[in-house]
Formats: sequence, C-alpha cells, structure tokens
Amino acid sequence: MLRVAVVGSGPSGVYTAQALLRQPGIRVHVLDRLPAPYGLVRYGVAPDHEKIKSLQNSLRAVLEDERVTFVGNVPVGGADGVGPARLAELYHAVVYCVGAAADRPLSVPGEDLPGSYSATRFVSWYSAHPDIAADDFALEARSAVVIGVGNVAVDVARILARGADELRATDVPRHALTALAGSRVREVCVAGRRGPSQARFTTKELRELGALPGARMLVDPAELALDPAYAGVPGAAPLPAAVRRNLDVLRAWSRPAAPPGPAPERRIALRFFLRPVELLERGGRVAGVRFARTAPDGSGGVRDTGVYEDVEAQLVLRAVGYRGVPLPGLPFDPARGTVPHRAGRVLRDGVPSAGEYVAGWIKRGPTGVIGSNRSCAKETVDSLIEDAPLLARRGAASDPLAVLRGWGLRPVEWDGWLSIERAEAALGRSLGRGPVKIHDWPGLLAAARGGSR
Ligand code: NAP
Repeated sequence: MLRVAVVGSGPSGVYTAQALLRQPGIRVHVLDRLPAPYGLVRYGVAPDHEKIKSLQNSLRAVLEDERVTFVGNVPVGGADGVGPARLAELYHAVVYCVGAAADRPLSVPGEDLPGSYSATRFVSWYSAHPDIAADDFALEARSAVVIGVGNVAVDVARILARGADELRATDVPRHALTALAGSRVREVCVAGRRGPSQARFTTKELRELGALPGARMLVDPAELALDPAYAGVPGAAPLPAAVRRNLDVLRAWSRPAAPPGPAPERRIALRFFLRPVELLERGGRVAGVRFARTAPDGSGGVRDTGVYEDVEAQLVLRAVGYRGVPLPGLPFDPARGTVPHRAGRVLRDGVPSAGEYVAGWIKRGPTGVIGSNRSCAKETVDSLIEDAPLLARRGAASDPLAVLRGWGLRPVEWDGWLSIERAEAALGRSLGRGPVKIHDWPGLLAAARGGSR
C-alpha cells in the first residue's frame, strides 16, 4: 500500500486526493495548517457566492472517503512546522498543494500607510480567517480605491458596496457583518493600469457589480475609447469572446443617462489607464492614490503620458494578485513564485526529486478558476502513479499520525472538523442566522475538541 500525504486541503489538494483515489492500494492523508478544510473555498470565495461555496459539498465527499484522512492543525514548513525532510520519512510521497499565500507587492511609496491593505487581507477578514484580527477593518472611510481589475478586485468592491442586510443570510462572521453594517464607504474606485480589453475579471463577476441594489456603476466612455480593442481599429484581430462580453457590459454602463429611482447610496467607478505611483498621506494615514495616466503602447502594454491624477481615498485595497511563498526545505523559483517542477515532479537542481510533487497555484502560479485545479492535479497524479513502483520501495511510517503526535503536534481530524461545523451552526442559531463562522484560533480549536471556550 502506498501512503501519500497531500499538503493543503483547498481545491488543488482535494482534487489531488480525488485523482489518487482512482488508483487502488493508496491511502491519502490530507494535511492542513488550519483545523478547517477547503482552503480558499472557505477562506477566499466571497460569502455571497453561495454557488461556488457549495463546491464544499463535492470536496467534502472526497475528504469523507474511507481511504482519506483529514489531518488539520498541522503546520508544514515555517518555524513551528514539519519540514519536507521529516514528512518524507512518514510517507512514500508528498504532494504540496499549498497555494500562493502572499499578496503581490505594489512597490510604490506609501504602500504601508495605515488604511492601505492587501485585498487578500480584507478577504481573509470577512472570511473569518483565524490569522486576521476581528477589529482589523473599521470601515470608517468614505472613499475607497481598489487597485487592480481582476476578480479579487471585483469581489472586494462588491462586498464594500453590498449592504450588510444581504450578507446576513451568509456565514460571514459577526465582526464583519457589524463593521459592514456601520460602513461609511460611499465611493469605490476600481482602477486598472491598462485598458478594459486587458482587464482580468470575468463577465459574470463584472455583471454582478451592476446588479447590486443601492449601487450605481460609473464608467467613463472616454477611457473606454482609448482602448484600440474597444474602439475597433480596422484590420485588428477579432477579440476573444470573453473580452467582447466584458466590453459590452462596460459599454452599457458608460451611457450617461441616470437610471430612474432614488439616488443610489453607493457609487462604483471602474477606471482604466491609471497606474498607481504613490499612496498619498494625511495625518499619518492614507488619503488618496496618485495615478499616472497611461496610454496604450500598441502591443498590449501601456506607457505613461506624463499626466497625473489624484483620487481621494481613506481606504486602499491592493488587489494586484497573489504570490507563492517559499516553503523552507523545498526548492523555489522567486521570479515565478512557484516550485520548479516537471509534470508535477519537484525538481531539485533540475532533477526530479523522489517522492516530492506539487499541484495547484504553487505549481503553476495564481491563475485560473477553481476547476483549473482538476487537470493540474491529474497531471501531477499521473506522474506519481508512473513513479509508484519506485516510491513503494521507499520507507513510510505505519502510523504517521502517531508520529506527528509524538512530535508534539495536536492534529484535528475529520470528527474535530464536524464538531467545528456543529459549533458554527449553534453560533448561527443563537444569532437567528444560518451557520456563522468562528473567526479565531482559540474558538476553532475549542470547537474542534468538542467544547467551548
Ligand atoms: P489577477 O487576475 O492576476 O489580477 C491582478 C490585477 O492586478 C490585474 O488587473 C493586473 O493588471 C493588476 N496589477 C498587477 N500588478 C500591478 C501593479 N504593479 N500596479 C497596478 N496593477 C497591477 O489576480 P486576482 O484578481 O488576485 O485573481 C487571482 C486568481 O483568482 C485569478 O485567476 C482569478 O480569476 C481568481 N479568482 C476568481 C474569482 C471568481 O471566480 N469569482 C474570485 C477571486 C479570484 P495587469 O493585467 O496590467 O498586470
């Protein structure tokens, strides 16, 4: 029997476990640093995206398979974590599916001013990630700027502009619901450094912004017209359908007629050709963003025009992408933010390392939708299965969990997670809501052990 550890219980980890289960004679331990499974599906997908959240049901079915053991609360790497060398003693093979945990830096002056945050931090806060303090965001700002035009930017703009009442029906934690209910944010500016045809958001997510009750979309037709793709330059290659659909949505929003009915409570401006060059400061806090106005350079990029524009903001969320974090003991390519690999086999000095594999964002970078992880996991598992005869000759512990406990770790297994789920349902009932997420380490661990704090 082959014992395989999958590190990370997000979509890439669970799809890897699922692909492994197609082979007979394999036992899988899915390790996670957190006592709760599902990675970014629990801690990244926005609470109002119930359909994507419901993916948890199919991930759950994999984790409940009798050949799979969920092993939460086990850090891998880091100062207190189990390193790759020790994991290699316990399992015939280890597949690292640790994602891309850090945010990409903007690298402009003022980036670290109070009031400027990575969007991933805001996402973690409203998703009840236990590493983020409940009082991290007070939402006292009136104007917010979101930098970047990918789906994370759209998510955070939508949560800022959506009324708290609509989020009550979700599992959003109490502190976030209270802060969002008292939010003073009225203006949200989402800014891309290139044109609308290069925006990374998807049309479905874009359209949702326009469907928010109480919010109005603002798009400047002059900024759209700057984009050669939008302007439809004769002889240009036809646009991909996804870009065309985005442009159609933006075009509709750029028409000046004010919609009938009362003035909207909030406004979301989608801006283009604005490259952030500095975060402005007043009284020791962020007060705005200075942008360089850019123009298309004819090959998909932009050049600065020498014109600057300041946009007021007391809250800045930098949504410029995720980035992989090196795991001590594993090779890392700092330029790409990934682990070097060949078809999922980890490369050490260019040579495949026996028993070490990667899948998901740490393998291919932080791109694609959740489903992209399926084919990525399959490629890695195909390599592992090909290597199986060699792997079987390596040693492995007969009871890795006992060894982990011997090393002082206190794994949370599936029963512990079910106990957290029950505690979250009970918390929700006490608040007259559906399940409400527990947001802190002591609360999660107490719930996992079947008690309360
Ligand atoms: P992303 O899609 O890579 O978008 C990053 C944005 O930041 C781009 O607009 C990029 O512009 C901009 N940017 C990068 N560096 C910049 C800089 N120095 N200054 C200004 N702008 C900069 O990243 P993401 O939004 O974090 O999303 C990550 C992945 O998760 C994506 O695959 C996304 O689709 C997925 N996701 C999906 C959903 C969903 O399906 N609902 C929700 C959230 C995330 P350039 O293009 O000019 O580089």
